Amino acid sequence: MLSGPKGTEQSSVAPCSICGCIGRSFDLPGTTEKFCWSCSTDVASILVLTAEIDSAERVGEGTDALLAELTDISSRMLQRSQSADLGSD
Ligand SMILES: [Zn+2]
Repeated sequence: MLSGPKGTEQSSVAPCSICGCIGRSFDLPGTTEKFCWSCSTDVASILVLTAEIDSAERVGEGTDALLAELTDISSRMLQRSQSADLGSD
């Protein structure tokens, strides 16, 4: 759901640093970037998964499922950023 910029609200919103969509932006702890809601949830999931993979490796557990999920989220974010580029016309 995209909504174009309207009015003079641009000072209070920033384009998402991943997909570039303009809307309400969210900060995540540990980053200085702005994310839209969709991207912020994906980035948060990646942070959680990365920590889980790290601790699973530390105790010698398999990380295949976690890595698969991480790859899945990463490619979804990549697709979104690419379609944002294509749709910027
Ligand atoms: Zn985004």
